[in-house]
Amino acid sequence: MDLRIREIDAREILDCRGNPTVQVDVILNDGTMGRADVPAGRSTGANEAKELRDGEKRYGGMGVRKAVANVKEIIQPEVKGMDASKQRELDAALIALDGTPDKSRLGANAILGVSLAAARAAANALHMPLYRYINVNAHVLPVPLLNLINGGKHASNDLEFQEFCIFPVGAETFSEAMEIAMAVYEELRMIIIEKYGKIAANVGDEGGFAPPIIKVREAMDNLVMAVERTPYANKIVYGLDCATTHLYNPETNKYTLEGNELTTDELLAFYKDLLKDYPIVSMEDPFSEDDVDGFVRATKELQIQIVGDDFLCTNPRLIKERVPLGASNALLLKVNQIGTLSEALDAAELAYRNSCGVMVSERSGETEDPIIADLVVGINAGQIKTGATIRGERTAKYNRLLQIEQELGSSAVYAGRNFKIPF
Ligand code: PEP
Ligand code: MG
Repeated sequence: MDLRIREIDAREILDCRGNPTVQVDVILNDGTMGRADVPAGRSTGANEAKELRDGEKRYGGMGVRKAVANVKEIIQPEVKGMDASKQRELDAALIALDGTPDKSRLGANAILGVSLAAARAAANALHMPLYRYINVNAHVLPVPLLNLINGGKHASNDLEFQEFCIFPVGAETFSEAMEIAMAVYEELRMIIIEKYGKIAANVGDEGGFAPPIIKVREAMDNLVMAVERTPYANKIVYGLDCATTHLYNPETNKYTLEGNELTTDELLAFYKDLLKDYPIVSMEDPFSEDDVDGFVRATKELQIQIVGDDFLCTNPRLIKERVPLGASNALLLKVNQIGTLSEALDAAELAYRNSCGVMVSERSGETEDPIIADLVVGINAGQIKTGATIRGERTAKYNRLLQIEQELGSSAVYAGRNFKIPF
């Protein structure tokens, strides 16, 4: 077995929105190949690593031919001969070769593709599933957070919060959680058709419904009604991604919500009222990406899981700086926000060491690559956010988790109500 990198190939493929993205093949000296696709976000944080886009006429400027060329012409000669199983060495070489703090020279999309494909190649060469290659102790199956109603930047409706999710925490197993989730999905589809007509049952970017709703409470009422029409109501709690970076106006220091301009205090009061009426256990980005005070207050006063997405950007520096202040108590882990596998693993470890939960997340622009399913099990995280079903780029992840559940057999533990710290 020879784990040294012989060749790297890359190409432009399409994500689920029809935008170009990078796919990388890493081929080892023994002929084994690892392939990985890079996802892309739409409601992005300012502190994310920067993907490189061509900015030319084709694909409205979204082409990634420059990133692909960077993989083949700049990264390949530099890392050829390196041992693909020495992930940290490889990632450090990629970071040094780029030379910028946000990976903007070569592109985080170019760098991440190589980083992930190398891990896959090494795992394949060692005849190990990727989750096992990441961790000999991998055993936790995450709670799937199904984002059943889409708003914000992910839908063409006027609902401002981005994601309304169910957490099937009362299931015994991951496969039972999926069964419960699909029963709710079907009931919700029927409710939406009854209330808003057939056309409203079309789905948003992540496969959840995107009905013509404006009010947060109306979305929650529909979701609760759907849950209550199933026999599983006592097994389900709720979570939101408020994604408020995109509702915040820095000039007025206020948030736009349901036709009002709310101060931080008013938005916090809105959340407190919401928690009185709905069993919401998790809120992501309840305040905008640099509102450390808002996050501290939300974490202290709401007493639920407060997840940092734009706020932490999977960035070990931001986690070290902000989490010890009591600003958020869970990390949203999106590998392309930071740009290499080893930095993402560092972010997860730092979160755990600070008693934070970890929620592994897709991007709204995904491909069929299910790599985050292996990642979530590999780090024993108790939660995965990968959209609703019925879109192939989403089922790819759920189906991979169903395979992993079977492979793990009796050692599999469904995180359930322990989703924040599942071990
Ligand atoms: C999110 O905000 O959590 C998300 C998944 O969206 P995007 O990928 O568009 O950032
Ligand atoms: Mg988010």
